[in-house]
Amino acid sequence: MTELNKLTLSDARDALRKGETTSVELTEACLKAIDAADALNAFVHKTPEIALERAKAADARINAGDAPAMCGLPIGIKDLFCTKGVDSQAASGILEGFKPEYESTVSQQLQDSGAVMLGKLNMDEFAMGSSNETSVYGNAVSPWRRADDEAQLTPGGSSGGSASAVAADLCLAATGTDTGGSIRQPAAFTGITGIKPTYGRCSRWGVVAFASSLDQAGPMTKSVRDAAMMLEAMCGHDPKDSTSADLAVPNFEAMLTGDIKGKKIGIPREYRMDGMPAEIEKLWSEGAEMLRAAGAEIVDISLPHTKYALPAYYVIAPAEASSNLARYDGVRYGQRATLEAGDGITEMYEKTRAAGFGHEVQRRVMVGTYVLSAGFYDAYYNRARKVRTLIKKDFEDVFAQGIDAILTPATPSAAFGLGEMIDADPVQMYLNDVFTVTVNLAGLPGISVPAGVDAQGLPLGLQLIGRPWEEGDLLNTAYALEEAAGFVAKPGHWW
Ligand code: GLN
Repeated sequence: MTELNKLTLSDARDALRKGETTSVELTEACLKAIDAADALNAFVHKTPEIALERAKAADARINAGDAPAMCGLPIGIKDLFCTKGVDSQAASGILEGFKPEYESTVSQQLQDSGAVMLGKLNMDEFAMGSSNETSVYGNAVSPWRRADDEAQLTPGGSSGGSASAVAADLCLAATGTDTGGSIRQPAAFTGITGIKPTYGRCSRWGVVAFASSLDQAGPMTKSVRDAAMMLEAMCGHDPKDSTSADLAVPNFEAMLTGDIKGKKIGIPREYRMDGMPAEIEKLWSEGAEMLRAAGAEIVDISLPHTKYALPAYYVIAPAEASSNLARYDGVRYGQRATLEAGDGITEMYEKTRAAGFGHEVQRRVMVGTYVLSAGFYDAYYNRARKVRTLIKKDFEDVFAQGIDAILTPATPSAAFGLGEMIDADPVQMYLNDVFTVTVNLAGLPGISVPAGVDAQGLPLGLQLIGRPWEEGDLLNTAYALEEAAGFVAKPGHWW
């Protein structure tokens, strides 16, 4: 058998059920890989004792013949998820030392399904970023490098630690969250699969809030089959989140037949951006050809309001963030700044928030409070909400025309170098999300599938966008694309 930490979830599950390995062995292999990968800065809070304890319990369940889908499989959890008794600080200084009294619904469901938590994963602070460089822990590093170049690359963001850890085989899979692309963009940058389900599929309870009308959790995995398996364990109705949908969760894995004959795949002309690298353009056409060869019909479509998505997102997301982050005031959680004699409550708020929040978070809070302020509410926030409705309607119109899924690039480029963008104009960084934010604004499911490499040998992803609540169908189309693309590249081991 290959090294245990290199297995996919589904292969590890099968091996466990056949008695070819144990959860303790799988977990030990991952813990060893994690300890040898500090250079990637992916795991920021390691929990080996919890992992081994859960692995032993999982082995006992498997031996007793009671093995739910994720039983015994070691995974990493993004630091945005509250995990009981374990540091959960959303990569922010303001939450330093915060150990929640409760477990997020998603991580609880994974635990109930037998998954083994190895530790908490690096990310951008409060999930704001596209390169994992806004983290209080310092940036995560991609295991990938350009050919003949030792420059360190970003694993993407905000779920950069999750992407790096899965791509480097430190864990079998990881949780991510996606508000504007934070599962799909890092998945594309690191050659793995990431799905953001329909808004409301996964409970947001216990996930530190960024922009509540956009935030969704999802799996980041080594294959589409793994994404299907893990998503099923993560989603479902939760009375503790009023936006979680009371809908049955299908057996997603059983829907992976690879048969997409007669499916209509839309190619939106507005996603053909000026200055898009030729390699991305080429990959996109090849992806369409692969789906056509598998029996799908390729249809040119129009999503006319696409060009307003990024500006609308960068009004709505900061507006909601500024409201959500008002709770970090130095009273209830995490760090309070050192105060001087005579300081009152206002000084406590100001000093705590100035010291505890990083620059990008402060920028978002300022943008958010500005667009929500009395004089500008209509001009910015309300207008952005109207644009959001139009963007959603664009998608509804094409689905009403019979389109089953939409194929686009996942990102406008391959992974960039650490430091290359963070010092530039912030808008440059925001442009990374150009193909992904529309999906969050419309609440739709979207998946990124690794589909090729660029001239430097770096992975490139394609995105498929599906109808609401039809993740099973979307995963099946992604499965057909994965089979046709046959992406097998792995990063060379240098860390
Ligand atoms: N990169 C986007 C942002 O900075 C999206 C982040 C996310 O999806 N959490 O807001």
